[in-house]
Amino acid sequence: MKKIIAVLLLSVSVMACSGDDEQKTTANVNADQTPVKNVIFLIGDGMGLAQVSKAMQTRDEPLNLEKANYVGLMKTSSSKEVITDSAAGATAFSIGVKTFNGAIGLDGNGRSKKTLLEMLAADGYSTGLIATSGITHATPASFYAHVESREDYYSIAQALVNAPVNLFIGGGEDHFDKRSNEKRGKPDDRNLVKEMEDKGVTLINNLGALEKATGRVGYFTAGQHPESVIKGRGDYLPKSIKPSIDFLQKETKKGFFLVVEGSQIDWGGHANDLNYTMTELYDFDKAVGAAMKFAEKDGNTLVLITADHETGGLTLPTSDIESDEPYSEAGHAYSTIGHTSAMVPVYAYGKGAEKFTGVYENTAIYHKLLSVLGK
Ligand SMILES: [Zn+2]
Repeated sequence: MKKIIAVLLLSVSVMACSGDDEQKTTANVNADQTPVKNVIFLIGDGMGLAQVSKAMQTRDEPLNLEKANYVGLMKTSSSKEVITDSAAGATAFSIGVKTFNGAIGLDGNGRSKKTLLEMLAADGYSTGLIATSGITHATPASFYAHVESREDYYSIAQALVNAPVNLFIGGGEDHFDKRSNEKRGKPDDRNLVKEMEDKGVTLINNLGALEKATGRVGYFTAGQHPESVIKGRGDYLPKSIKPSIDFLQKETKKGFFLVVEGSQIDWGGHANDLNYTMTELYDFDKAVGAAMKFAEKDGNTLVLITADHETGGLTLPTSDIESDEPYSEAGHAYSTIGHTSAMVPVYAYGKGAEKFTGVYENTAIYHKLLSVLGK
């Protein structure tokens, strides 16, 4: 009984607090309806509510995600399937319409549509893509390529050579300079790394080099996909946020659009390996923290965090908080090695964040982003 009263009192005080906060925040929002200048869009591939819940339960410190002052729920289906893949999922974000699984930057009828990144670049914004997979993988590719199959690395790599991307950081270098191995397209011996350099792209091999770099810059972090955190990838994802922002701001005063993917949260789900998922999620959350830190200081930046879908059908049927093994088998269960159709959370922080509450389709992300940017 005592416990119930304590819980009741707690809820009342929480309600009172959030009421005050809301009033304050609403006042701030009403005071400033000018467009957002910069957007940092972080995608935790395969990061559903159960993954985030588990990460919260197994950490002493709150996640950075928990600082998000506005939260929404997103439906993730693709044009033909209730369960999306990452290509259709990220394409919904990048072009604002649903497409079929596997498609990159095309609408449901296979027609190419300009992506948000391409539109903003044409409008004078600087743009960046960072991933812990190949930079040619489905999610990052959906912002600069237009192909029917996500497996078509042959064409996706070619698209990046000419894409209006000021900065990219991720794996996949082999798709640029070992093209005779490709299974799609017409495998060739072109060296796109060299072709990019000939076009003036500076390729760097450490984050420190970003400070002096100008123009278009690329950093290949692996030939194929980078390793997992467990296998020693290190923390280039969170560490890249600040220097990337500095770089993008140096390029133009107009504003920047930076897309960051925690690619391997999804792969932990496919492997039904909770330790894999959690280590990738913590790494991603550090990147979220770095983005929020900038947004807080800047005051003109929106930080948006979501997933393209949930992976693994993770459930948390019993508590294992007291266990020495936070990922003990009793504490979690997977229901599939694939993706699921469950809604995923959307976390928004900073300027324009209030526009992201509610329940909506994945395509709404594109339209909401355009709206907060004043487009
Ligand atoms: Zn997946």
